[in-house]
Amino acid sequence: MFEFTSIEQYHAQLQEGNVTCLLAVEHYLKRIDETKHLNAFIEVYTHEVLQKAKELDEKRKAGLPIGKLHGVVIGLKDVICYKDHNISASSNILKKFTSIYSATAVERLLAEEAIIIGNLNCDEFAMGSTNENSAYGKVLNALDETRVPGGSSGGSAVAVQAGCCMVSLGSDTGGSVRQPADFCGIIGLKPTYGRISRYGLIAYASSFDQIGILGNNIPDVALLLEVMAGADEFDSTVSHKEVPAYSKELSTEKKYRFAYFETALSHPGLDPEISAAIKKKIELIKQEGHIVEAVDFELLDYIVPAYYVLTTAEASSNLSRFDGVKYGYRSTAPGVELTEFYKQSRSVGFGKEVKRRIMLGTFVLSAGFYDAYFTRAQKVRNLLKDNIELIFNEFDFILLPNSPVPAFKAGEKMDDPIAMYLADIYTVMANLAGIPAISLPLFKHSINMPFGLQVMSNRFDELSLLRISHLLMAVK
Ligand code: GLN
Repeated sequence: MFEFTSIEQYHAQLQEGNVTCLLAVEHYLKRIDETKHLNAFIEVYTHEVLQKAKELDEKRKAGLPIGKLHGVVIGLKDVICYKDHNISASSNILKKFTSIYSATAVERLLAEEAIIIGNLNCDEFAMGSTNENSAYGKVLNALDETRVPGGSSGGSAVAVQAGCCMVSLGSDTGGSVRQPADFCGIIGLKPTYGRISRYGLIAYASSFDQIGILGNNIPDVALLLEVMAGADEFDSTVSHKEVPAYSKELSTEKKYRFAYFETALSHPGLDPEISAAIKKKIELIKQEGHIVEAVDFELLDYIVPAYYVLTTAEASSNLSRFDGVKYGYRSTAPGVELTEFYKQSRSVGFGKEVKRRIMLGTFVLSAGFYDAYFTRAQKVRNLLKDNIELIFNEFDFILLPNSPVPAFKAGEKMDDPIAMYLADIYTVMANLAGIPAISLPLFKHSINMPFGLQVMSNRFDELSLLRISHLLMAVK
């Protein structure tokens, strides 16, 4: 019997000879098979991972030094390239496309001897909050199969939630790692913009996108961040700042300063149980000797509109490369001229939500409307950045919910895109400002679903964020 608690414990068991990588991989393959109906995995690399596990076992038994992620079983969201493996961003336009290189993040995991077990379902091109916009069909929440797992990294969250891998990677442009983690009762970290290279991550909105980590405990998440973060010659936006040994520096005695927004916690759209749980947590944090204060924040109602104007604008440009000529699906209609060919390939290849966003983005960038929408949204982004900077002059962290409601029923919001967009109110802030943020599974709702606390820290201060998360998780 194989049971996973943490990477550290797994490694200790491997060294003691109680388990093997092969046993671990066999366990996960069986689990993936048992939970197939959840639809979290798109492809499972069965043959390959069994082979890799055997090689790692032999290497370890021969007494050779082992990597930091030796035998750690990881799933990848279907927007992260893994050489010679299919990648499609859960879109028909890219179905059967094979990666010709691996993302830098993946290269670094592999260099530390991780085992990539398969690719995970998500909303098409990472656009969505429920994992219902996927060419492979929806993903089910393992805790209540009538509910959504959140999105867009729904498959990544369910794979960890249902025990189908040890950790997984997602991408977070406006909450896609934190919100599914919240809905599924696991941890989800979105690092600072530029902490992990985006090379090999299929772009949605390039000035927002960041690879994130989903896991069961803070030391595992910290270890993956430590392995993947840092300078990369293939991504000019990634930071050259030194990468701390996050996983080894998690303990702290420090008393911190937390800010929260009364406007956020008393927002009419927020579920009263979520508001009450966070307020209660605030009192407990104070009792631990930390300072927690309410600060003014006037921008809450502007950030979702700003997010959707800016990200759709970037998406309309990023997704123009999928034209039926260079990649993936191509229309086979006979005898059409070029513009018609593009039109047909894109109309058939893209799903409804992606088309809606490309059109919205093209509209806000059009000559007549550019200043009214795009320029104004950029101003909101700048105001927000300034505001956040001022807060972090005085505080270490900002506390927020992740989502105004716990996991909703499948289909509930599909006909109302605006309601769906507005549910991103608490997560998009971190992406607009480029700061790190984490979702911690601390609470349970009376509908019997989990929900989490969101903590944000200053740019590149993942170390403090992980330390406080470790502390908060310990006193659950
Ligand atoms: N729900 C958000 C959206 O649909 C977040 C997406 C993401 O972070 N990739 O845009």
